[in-house]
Amino acid sequence: VAERSSALHRFFIADDVIDRGVASLVGDRAHQVARVLRLRAGEQVILVDAGGLEHVVELSEVSARLVTGNVQSTRPSIAEPRLAITLYQGLVAREKLEWVIQKGTEVGIARIVPVRCARSNVARGESVDDRRLERWRRIATEAAEQSGRGRVPEIRPVVALADVLADAAATGPTLLAWEGERARSVRDALRLIQTTPCVAPTLALFIGPEGGFAPEEITLAATLGALTVSLGPRILRTETAGPVLAALALYELGDMAPGRMSDVGAEG
Ligand code: SAM
Repeated sequence: VAERSSALHRFFIADDVIDRGVASLVGDRAHQVARVLRLRAGEQVILVDAGGLEHVVELSEVSARLVTGNVQSTRPSIAEPRLAITLYQGLVAREKLEWVIQKGTEVGIARIVPVRCARSNVARGESVDDRRLERWRRIATEAAEQSGRGRVPEIRPVVALADVLADAAATGPTLLAWEGERARSVRDALRLIQTTPCVAPTLALFIGPEGGFAPEEITLAATLGALTVSLGPRILRTETAGPVLAALALYELGDMAPGRMSDVGAEG
């Protein structure tokens, strides 16, 4: 009987790793399985493909060069939220953004877009080259594997707020966290939004930089139909606010509930 799936090591794989029920891992993955995790033939791992399908694989050959195994069972990843959240994170210092990526992935965010706002401290975190993006994507992958996600959140390059706010608000429900909001809570906003249930719900969340949104950005957001929401009477650091807002939204929509967990552990 497969070990409880939450206890098995999980790896995201390219689509060519599994061929007719046989999985083959080479390169870094093979080395990680054989030398770092020291897994042995007969043990099981979970391989998650790009479509979010989880394959329980029993290892048959394990070496640092090549690891093979046979697919025992396949199922959609149950730990993946139905709600696809895009977090538009006001630009912060790099190490803080890495924290947002890791925690946002654990909570269940689908996409993270660093956003340059009027009060962003442009000097920090701005020069994002491919190497930096690659590091962010690696952090997202590791956090997705650790938290049992069915997909790795997408990390987008830095954009300007003016370039994304209108499109986000026109495309779907959009919340903007503003400590100046005195009336609307996250629950109020989601109740307003939840009028039309749809198959693949999306939600855009905007978090300001350390200096907060400028007044003209708040006005623009409201004009474009984004809903400003309060996160309560305490001022959260920008890197705290994003994961908290995402968790509040997922909780309100029933995704962070025990019933979801029992699915994940159902293997055992
Ligand atoms: N004006 C803030 C201050 O006095 O320190 C600076 C902005 S706050 C550190 C960073 C961002 O987190 C804000 O732009 C907002 O998006 C979000 N935020 C923090 N606390 C919040 C709250 N209580 N309600 C709504 N948004 C909040």
